[in-house]
Amino acid sequence: MSLAMPDATETAALVADLAGLVGRAYVTAPDEDQEPYVVDWRGRYHGRAAAVVKPADTAEVAAVVRFCAARGLAVVPQGGNTGMCGAATPDGSGRSVVIRLDRLNRIRSVSALANSITVEAGCILQAIQEAAAAVDRLFPLSLGAEGSCQIGGNIATNAGGTAVLRYGTTRELVLGLEVVLPDGTVLNRLQALRKNSSGYDLKQLFVGAEGTLGIVTAASLKLFPRPRVSALAMVALPEIEAALALMERLRGTVGDRLASLEAMSRGQIEVIAEHVPDVAIPFALEAPWYLLIELTDTLEGTDLRTPLEAALGEAFEEGLVTDAVIAESGAQAHALWKIRHSVSEGSKRAGYVVSHDSVVPLENQALFARNVERRILEAVPEARVVMHGHIGDGNIHVLAILDAARFPDAGTAAPVAARINAVVDDETAALGGVISAEHGIGISNRGRLGRVTAPAEIALMRRIKGLLDPAGTMNPGKVLGPEA
Ligand SMILES: Cc1cc2nc3c(=O)[nH]c(=O)nc-3n(C[C@H](O)[C@H](O)[C@H](O)COP(=O)(O)OP(=O)(O)OC[C@H]3O[C@@H](n4cnc5c(N)ncnc54)[C@H](O)[C@@H]3O)c2cc1C
Repeated sequence: MSLAMPDATETAALVADLAGLVGRAYVTAPDEDQEPYVVDWRGRYHGRAAAVVKPADTAEVAAVVRFCAARGLAVVPQGGNTGMCGAATPDGSGRSVVIRLDRLNRIRSVSALANSITVEAGCILQAIQEAAAAVDRLFPLSLGAEGSCQIGGNIATNAGGTAVLRYGTTRELVLGLEVVLPDGTVLNRLQALRKNSSGYDLKQLFVGAEGTLGIVTAASLKLFPRPRVSALAMVALPEIEAALALMERLRGTVGDRLASLEAMSRGQIEVIAEHVPDVAIPFALEAPWYLLIELTDTLEGTDLRTPLEAALGEAFEEGLVTDAVIAESGAQAHALWKIRHSVSEGSKRAGYVVSHDSVVPLENQALFARNVERRILEAVPEARVVMHGHIGDGNIHVLAILDAARFPDAGTAAPVAARINAVVDDETAALGGVISAEHGIGISNRGRLGRVTAPAEIALMRRIKGLLDPAGTMNPGKVLGPEA
């Protein structure tokens, strides 16, 4: 098979064949508007596709994958295209077929009894949250992109978000999966079983695999009792260590009612205030760190405010907290969460962002944040270093924002980004962490994986990839990249 860009005749034939599988209305040819599907959310990667297809169901996904496998065409699964590391963008060869899962958007079943929901991969995360709420249950995965990301993408990236502290990452929410393998075989492990010790837990292979081992077409997911009461505070902290001290204290008093702890550095909130309209910041921004604390409970009438106020009162006296607001209404709580949910949008508008997703053991989290900030500024004094993250998960996102006029794209920023990455990777490795907690490796981070991940681990990943996808057609070049 030639690796040259397909010519017009070849492309027309391909489009006609794919149209025969899914219908012409669901194939976007190269001379049609493919832009939304071949450029990533951050606008860093610009690929080309022989075609973008939108199959209607699992059988059509399998048919397209089989078709592509037979012709040696690369397949790039794509959900909402909100990923942070270019993993859903085709390369520039023009020989990839992007498979969008949008039309696989049915809720197949939901059971309040079994606390589970079975959904197709193209369901928007928010739609799943709403379907769970309709039967008085909670699907806890929550992140800023929930109005546009799809559950298939969440599973493929093992997404985290703001509720991991209490409910775990996507991996912990998956009961079963239906997957189309690279040869078109459909693997159905959709049973919503709570226990299963029948051999290897194959579904977990596909969680966090970023579409390199197969296409998730449906998932059975865990639901939880729906919280009926909540209390939300935003507090100012004199140092990041105070966030961890507060977490320990709150866990001792309110236990697992502690649902979210989201930290933002002052610089991060300033970026949001500068670039996102309609965000109300309730502080004068004099402290170095701010923390959102949310408590929830499923029992109507439970008083969460009293223990929250008591904990904050004690924290004030000990100097752990220097200022605080407690949301008085649902609208105020929404406004406080809006600050947190605006970090990605605000940062994107602030300049060229070199962003990181490291996770380190909790006891090293504060040291990590301090060391990385100091060392990035030593290496690249013109960078604006801001941070936000999931206190309690050990996951602080460090963002080095560069002047967009000087660094308009990945090419010009590459040498500076490499210096910043080296600092972050070095600290991550030294403090016992890994470079991606929740965003994945994709293209952006694949060159860095080997700095922090053991060679034996990477070698095993390559063997698994080779076993499941011997022709290397399933989202090629993502996560592992070419062998050195
Ligand atoms: C404003 C904003 C806030 C965000 N906040 C967070 C956050 O707090 N936590 C977090 O973890 N992430 C966050 N993200 C990143 C992103 O939303 C997540 O990575 C999300 O899980 C990606 O879902 P998607 O449907 O957009 O996937 P895409 O971007 O389309 O794809 C991501 C990867 O999944 C693969 N994929 C997609 N669908 C399938 C499928 N059905 N089968 C197999 N592979 C598939 C793709 O090939 C690619 O490798 C945020 C993004 C934005 C824009």
